[in-house]
Amino acid sequence: MIELTFLGTSASAPSIQRGLSSAVVQHRDLRFMIDCGEGTQRQLLRSGLGFKRLNKILITHAHLDHILGLAGLVSTMTRWEVMEELAIYGGAYALDRIRRLLDVVFSPHPIPDSIHFHTIRPGVIFATKHLRIEAFPVIHRGPDCYGFQFIETPKRPFLVEKAEALGIPPGPERRLLVEGQRITLANGRVVHPDDVLGPPRPGARLAFIGDLARTKGVAATIRGADVLVVEATYLEQDKALARQYGHLTAAQAARLAHQARVKRLILTHISRRYADEEILAEAQAIFPATILANDFDHFQIKHNY
Ligand SMILES: [Zn+2]
Ligand SMILES: [Zn+2]
Repeated sequence: MIELTFLGTSASAPSIQRGLSSAVVQHRDLRFMIDCGEGTQRQLLRSGLGFKRLNKILITHAHLDHILGLAGLVSTMTRWEVMEELAIYGGAYALDRIRRLLDVVFSPHPIPDSIHFHTIRPGVIFATKHLRIEAFPVIHRGPDCYGFQFIETPKRPFLVEKAEALGIPPGPERRLLVEGQRITLANGRVVHPDDVLGPPRPGARLAFIGDLARTKGVAATIRGADVLVVEATYLEQDKALARQYGHLTAAQAARLAHQARVKRLILTHISRRYADEEILAEAQAIFPATILANDFDHFQIKHNY
C-alpha cells in the first residue's frame, strides 16, 4: 500500500483554504515529499506527519510555487538537527535554482554536505526491494519538468494452508520462505518457496504529475496506474489561458485519466478563480472517478483501488 497526503493544493498563490503545492508519499518506513511550496513546513506540522524521517524531497519543476518552501524547511531541519541527511531530487534546472536559494539560506557558510542533490534523468531514480520510483519528462513551462511513478514491487502471497499442511511452524522459517529462501524442517524435509507462495500479485502504482502543459504521450507512460495526481488549474472556458501559461483544464486532465485508463484521478493545483464544484463537475463529466484534493487529504492506494 502507498499512502499519499496533500499538504498544499493551490495554484500559484496560496488561498485561505489552500497552501502551495506539496504532498508526502509514504511506503513502509519511507517518506518522500513532492514539491515544497512556501508555507509547507507549517502544513507538515498541521498534517500530523511532522519532520521525522522526512529525508527525501522530489521536485517536479523549478517554479517558485513548488520550491520556495525549501528555504524555510531546510533551514529548520538543519538548525534543529532533526535531519542527518537530506536528498533533493530534481531536474538540472530546478536543482540549479534550489542551490541558489539555499546559498542564501546558509550564507555566509556553504550549503552543508548533509544535503545531497540528485539530478533526475528519465528512468528509475530510487529503488528498494519493495518500491521503485521512475521519473518521466513532461512539458510545462521551462526545462527539466518531471512526473513520477511510485511502483510497488509485486508480492507473492504466503499460503498459510499449504504451510500448515507441510508442518511449517509459525515464525522465522516462514519468514525465510517469504524472502525466497528454502528451509529444512526438523524432520529433514526441504521446503522451497514455490511450495508455499502463490503467484505474484501486482502492487499499487501512483502516477504523480505536477504542472502540465501537454498531455500528448503521457497516457502511454502512466497507463493503468491506480491513482493519477495531476493539476487542473483552469476550466475549459479559459483554455486559451491554460495554453498560454502551460497548464491543463479540468477537462484535459480528465481526458488524460480516461485515455490512460487509470483507476482514480485526483486533481490538485486549484485556482482561486473557480468554485471547487465547477472544476469537479467538468472533470467528472468525462472521468467519473475524479476527486478534488484538499489540503491534508489522505489516501491509501492499493492495486486496483
Ligand atoms: Zn505551479
Ligand atoms: Zn509551474
